Amino acid sequence: MHPLLTDDMTSPSSWICLLRPCTAMKLLLDGCCKTTCWIFASWVNSVSQTPRGESVAIVGGGPAGLMAADVISAAGIPVHLYESKPSIGRKFLIAGKGGLNLTHNESYEDFVRRFGSRCSEVAPLLERFGPKEVRKWCRGLGVETFVGGSNRVFPSDMKAFPLLRNWLQRLQSQGVEIHTRHRWLGWDSAGKMSFDSAEGRYCVSSTATILALGGGSWSKLGSDGRWVEVLRQEGIGVQSLQPTNCGFDVLWSEYFRSRFAGQPLKSVILRFTDSRGNVFERRGSCVVTEYGLEGSLIYAASPLLREEINACGTARIVLDLAPDRTLENLQERLCAQRGSRSLSNHLRSRVNIKGVEAALLRECQLSTNTPSHRAEEWNNANALAHLIKSCPVRLESPRPLDEAISTAGGVLFEDLDERLMLKSRPGCFVAGEMLDWEAPTGGYLLTMCLSSGFAAGHGTMEWLNRRVMEGWWSRPWHFRLFMVTCSRNCIRRV
Ligand SMILES: Cc1cc2nc3c(=O)[nH]c(=O)nc-3n(C[C@H](O)[C@H](O)[C@H](O)COP(=O)(O)OP(=O)(O)OC[C@H]3O[C@@H](n4cnc5c(N)ncnc54)[C@H](O)[C@@H]3O)c2cc1C
Repeated sequence: MHPLLTDDMTSPSSWICLLRPCTAMKLLLDGCCKTTCWIFASWVNSVSQTPRGESVAIVGGGPAGLMAADVISAAGIPVHLYESKPSIGRKFLIAGKGGLNLTHNESYEDFVRRFGSRCSEVAPLLERFGPKEVRKWCRGLGVETFVGGSNRVFPSDMKAFPLLRNWLQRLQSQGVEIHTRHRWLGWDSAGKMSFDSAEGRYCVSSTATILALGGGSWSKLGSDGRWVEVLRQEGIGVQSLQPTNCGFDVLWSEYFRSRFAGQPLKSVILRFTDSRGNVFERRGSCVVTEYGLEGSLIYAASPLLREEINACGTARIVLDLAPDRTLENLQERLCAQRGSRSLSNHLRSRVNIKGVEAALLRECQLSTNTPSHRAEEWNNANALAHLIKSCPVRLESPRPLDEAISTAGGVLFEDLDERLMLKSRPGCFVAGEMLDWEAPTGGYLLTMCLSSGFAAGHGTMEWLNRRVMEGWWSRPWHFRLFMVTCSRNCIRRV
């Protein structure tokens, strides 16, 4: 069985009607046995009602679109994949630049919890195609995976290119037709899909459609979020796109910005309590940038920080710059006689606070205190120890969507059925980052894109299957009788 066909697809009644004529003939010639003829007869039964020229159009050549194409083409259904860029999988390839983090090796419950308020919607999708299936899928493409630091899962060579190359080869062998430089514009008045291509504008009709257009970040790679307006005009609910896994602006002084931009704050604890009482506390690293703060620790807190800024205008985090020392230990060490040493030397020799961390203490003290209070705090060992343990930083705004690693917001799950089909547009499915979910970095993003592509692919097949069956029952009774008689005769002859 093909790795992407699930158990429910092993029942002939569910997929036989999806076979292409050539596939059915091949089966017949290969093994002319009773079973084969029965399959052929069933195929005659069902395909005779399949509309001629039936095909599936998938828009978007990212991991979600490619996964949907893989699932559907594996069942022998013609697939046309449209992509606005000259090549496929650009963001997937960029994701592989610093090591392609495919998924995460933690308990299923913990994995699902990372999707926050959307975990109940994504759980059924991840149950069918979750972290284990991602690794199996990877192996099926000839690439082994390994569990690296912090339980993150990577391909053995850390790269995206070999995986994408093997994947595209498989899709080609399954007959997927890829149309690059085709920008989807929306639907025309007759419901056909409208494309802008090198040959100009033209319309395409397909039996079913899957939209996998990505989010709105890194638009140079193709996903620019322009689909939001198109879908809203069609009355489809879309939550506004917002940055997530993103950096934040801080009003650094010119002195701090010019000297310390690019320097990492290694192993600090970020603590944040929002105005609704939600608490975030984690140890990790971040980087001081020209405009503020960036890096994995900041990304992890970004949904809470973004929402706080939306609600209150700013968000105040505190950083523990000496997580391995207690407050008492710091107080004790800083109380020691300073003598003629400068305060910087005192901080470095007594508590190992130096460089960007020492400068950050000064920076944050400058921005929060009056001059007299500043001098007092700076010369008071107890106050200084407190400042090291909870150095306040005020975040002004998230960085623009285009710079973010991923996008929050998108097509509302409430407007989709459990197969990811738009309730208001039967036959049109949605997958990937354009759905309204968000998750931290760590392999959750790709897993969810693959998982929703898988669900949309199977949802499409189920919908096509049901449509064929409904078509069969709507045929006149004498036509149905004729077809059944033909099939029975065919079986009896064997
Ligand atoms: C720098 C970076 C590093 C990342 N690293 C990781 C990582 O290590 N692990 C992880 O899990 N995730 C990572 N991600 C996130 C991950 O790459 C994305 O979540 C994922 O690629 C989204 O998949 P998608 O198929 O939904 O959309 P995309 O990959 O964005 O694909 C959408 C496709 O649709 C096409 N398209 C858009 N509009 C149209 C249109 N109108 N007509 C035709 N085609 C259109 C686009 O050109 C694009 O090719 C990273 C992201 C970035 C930016």
